[in-house]
Amino acid sequence: MNSMRKKRVLITGGAGFLGSHLCDRFIAEGFHVIAMDNLITGTMENIEHLVKLKNFEFYHCDVSKFVHVPGELDYILHFASPASPIDYLQMPIQTLKVGSLGTHNLLGLAKSKKARILVASTSEVYGDPLIHPQKEEYWGHVNPVGPRGVYDEAKRFQEAITMAYHTYHGLETRIVRIFNTYGPRMRLNDGRALPAFIGQALGGKDLTVFGDGSQTRSFCYVDDLIEGIYRLLMSDYVFPVNIGNPEEITIKQFAEEIIRLTGTEQKIAYQPLPKDDPKQRQPDITKAKEILGWKPKYSRAEGLKPTMEYFKQRIKKTKVEAASENEE
Ligand code: UDP
Repeated sequence: MNSMRKKRVLITGGAGFLGSHLCDRFIAEGFHVIAMDNLITGTMENIEHLVKLKNFEFYHCDVSKFVHVPGELDYILHFASPASPIDYLQMPIQTLKVGSLGTHNLLGLAKSKKARILVASTSEVYGDPLIHPQKEEYWGHVNPVGPRGVYDEAKRFQEAITMAYHTYHGLETRIVRIFNTYGPRMRLNDGRALPAFIGQALGGKDLTVFGDGSQTRSFCYVDDLIEGIYRLLMSDYVFPVNIGNPEEITIKQFAEEIIRLTGTEQKIAYQPLPKDDPKQRQPDITKAKEILGWKPKYSRAEGLKPTMEYFKQRIKKTKVEAASENEE
């Protein structure tokens, strides 16, 4: 291998929320970045600032089908998947396929290129957890045939096949379990609590809290998450590692926080709790601290500022586009 050449990384889901932030990070680290996406939930807007760069390539393709990448690869990050509850309810088969067939294709690609691969797993592998906070050793409490089963089981299969490639083929593999993450480039209408609440507060609508709002989540700012993933990829640890922010909040408190921060007059509108909605979620990040020397730096107040600003700009842009379409 020519030691002078730039390191090459393939990022699947590269036009998505997390994938596009990973592209930014690897470009900043001096890599040649190949982003792949079928654009069913990702968008070119997330990477439009990168496409003109010499060190960046974009492949519009579906990784659930055979993946071909010419040239050498040093690293693969598999981040392609619908990832919000609404998305995977609307695209259950694609969700199952990208987590299973897609992962299999990328493991095969990693093997043929002798690349190290990191797969994006999720706190959903713990299901509606019976232990709290969730440690990596917990096996989870998942309903395979419930609405979230398509995502949860695809990701559990993904972990299993990734470990099998490591064990049987000696492939260099990494598994990150991602907890709720937010930040710029999240889709305003992906149905998740955070963009829903901010969009509603800024748009003059009541905030839709599902159930009584006593369920908890722990929200991590995207820059912290990306740092954790980068460190995990560069480490030599093959078992799953939780990356997330352990600061836990109930969804009702979170809606109230958004109401306060936006200064809106809107109230909370309670709606039925979706089936199998986890009652509590908080990562135990002892492993990430010990193995990666990582912990989150951003408080919610710090992370919500740029996120809110991003959503304000997005809403403004959407209004301008709608107005100019009406004029045409
Ligand atoms: N939620 C809510 N109102 C919304 C969207 C979501 O109360 O408009 C709740 C949802 O039921 C869940 C929590 O907020 O308990 C977080 O949901 P999200 O979709 O962000 O992700 P999840 O952690 O459930 O995958």
